[in-house]
Amino acid sequence: MESLSETPPAIPEDSEVNSKSVLNIKWNRLSNDPVSCPYCKNIGENKLHITVLTTTKLRTDDYEKLLDLGWIKDCARHLFKPDTINSCCPFYTTRLDSLEFKISKQQKKHMKRFNQYLNGERELELKTEVVVPKPEQEELANKKGQDTQTTDQQAQDIPQKDEKPQPNEFGEIGYIETGEEQKIAIEAGNSRPYTDFFDEFVPNTTKESERAHKYTVSLHRCICYQEVLDLYQKFQYARFDEVKTKTDFMEQRTNSCLFDPKDPAFRSTKTVKDETRRDEGRVFKDEGIYPEYYGTYYMHHRIDGKLVACSILDITEHNICSELTFYDPAYSGLCLGHVTAVREMEYMRKIRKEFNNNCRYYYMSEYLYNSPRSQYKICMHPIKLLCPFTYTYVPLTASLISQIKAREPQLNPDSPPKPLVPETDSPQETSGESEPDQDSARPVGESKLSKWTKSLKIMSSKDTMLPLKSYGPARRLHLRRVLESYYENMGDTLLNDFVCEYL
Ligand SMILES: [Zn+2]
Repeated sequence: MESLSETPPAIPEDSEVNSKSVLNIKWNRLSNDPVSCPYCKNIGENKLHITVLTTTKLRTDDYEKLLDLGWIKDCARHLFKPDTINSCCPFYTTRLDSLEFKISKQQKKHMKRFNQYLNGERELELKTEVVVPKPEQEELANKKGQDTQTTDQQAQDIPQKDEKPQPNEFGEIGYIETGEEQKIAIEAGNSRPYTDFFDEFVPNTTKESERAHKYTVSLHRCICYQEVLDLYQKFQYARFDEVKTKTDFMEQRTNSCLFDPKDPAFRSTKTVKDETRRDEGRVFKDEGIYPEYYGTYYMHHRIDGKLVACSILDITEHNICSELTFYDPAYSGLCLGHVTAVREMEYMRKIRKEFNNNCRYYYMSEYLYNSPRSQYKICMHPIKLLCPFTYTYVPLTASLISQIKAREPQLNPDSPPKPLVPETDSPQETSGESEPDQDSARPVGESKLSKWTKSLKIMSSKDTMLPLKSYGPARRLHLRRVLESYYENMGDTLLNDFVCEYL
C-alpha cells in the first residue's frame, strides 16, 4: 500500500519523462524464477532461466543498446535475457554485419529458383491451401471460403464490406478498415516495382513486363489487419499446429513498444497504460522504401497481388532486426524463409547506399544449437553470437557450436568478462533509507544501487512520480530485488535512462 502524505502533481504533457523508455517493474520475471522449457519440454524437469523486461514504450536508440547487452525482443512488449549458465537450453543473440555478408551457394540456388518461377521458367506445385480451425472463443468475422482452392485467393483474403470488425472489439484503433486494406493490396499489386527495394545478389535478367508473375514488396506499420492475420494463422497452424487467435496476434505481433523519439505521434502519448492503445498514432499506409521514422514494420511480399510472406522488422538507426517471417504454407516450394532473409540483406545494402549510411547490422533473434528453427541462421554468413560475459560478437563456427554443446557459456574465453556493474564497489551503506539486505548472496554494486534506488522515482497509477519509500516495506523490498536484477542485466547507465513504472 502506498502511504502518501500529499499527492504529487500529475506529470505535465511536455515533460521530458514522456520521451523516455518505460520499464514496467510490476510485470517482471527474474532468472531465479525459471520457466519450463519449450525447446526440450519432454525431457525431465528442464527449466529456462530468463529475465523478462516488460515495456510499453521503448525508444529505438535504447533498444539498440539492449540488443548489445544480450536482450532479445520476443514480441510486442517483452524482451528477455537468458541465463546461459543455468538454463537447460542456452541461447544467444545473433548478429550479422551486412558489409561482411556473403551469399551462400544454397541461398543463390533458392534465389535463382525464385526468379525462374517469376519468369515462368519453373512451375511451382502449390500445396493444398491450409485450413485453420476456428479459434475457440473468437469469431473470425464469418470469413468465407478459406477451404476452397482457387487461383483467385486474393479476393477471398480481403474481407467483404459487411465483415468489418465490430467497433471496440479490439479497441477502436489499430484495426484497418476493409476499404483501406483493399486499396493497399491493389497499390502493391500494380505500382511499385520490387527492384526499388533491393540491391540484388542474384539479379533477375528478364524484364519485369515479360515475367509470368508479378512480385511486389511494400512496407507498412505493424498494426493489425485481416490479411496479415490470416497469413499468420495459416503459418502457425501448418508449422507449429497452433491455432492463434486475433487477440494473440494483437498482443504478440502488433502494438509494438518501439518508438522513435522524433516521431510527433509519440510526443503526446505519455506512458501507454492500455496495451491496445500502443498503435495509436500509427497510420496504415505504404511507407515507401524507407520509412520516415524508426520502429516496427511489416514487409509484405506479394505474388500476383496475393500476400505470400510477411516479415516483422524492427528498423533502428544502425540495425534491422528480423523478428519473425511468416509465409503462406502453400508456397513452401519457393523456400520463402530463405528468400526473404536474402531480400532483407539486399534491402540493407539499398538502405545504406541511398538513405542511411549508418544502417549496418542485421539481428536475427536467438540462436539455439538444438532448435531446428535456428538452423537457417547458419546460412547467413558470417553470423556472429553475442558472448554474454564479454559482450563481444564471436563468429559462429563448428568449434563454437561444440563449445556451446559442452556447456562452456563464455563464448570468448580469451577476453576477460565484463560485468555490467562492479562486482562490489564498497562496503554497504547503512543509511536509514537503505533496505536491510536479506539476500546477501549477491551484493552486486551495492552502494551504487542503494544510492540509485534512494533517488529513484517510480511512475504510479496516477501519472505521478513516487519515490520508492512511498511503498510499504514488503513491496519496497520486493521492488528493490527486482530493480537489482535489472541493474545487473542492463547496467546502471542504461537503467538510469528509463522511467520505471508500477502500474
Ligand atoms: Zn530446454
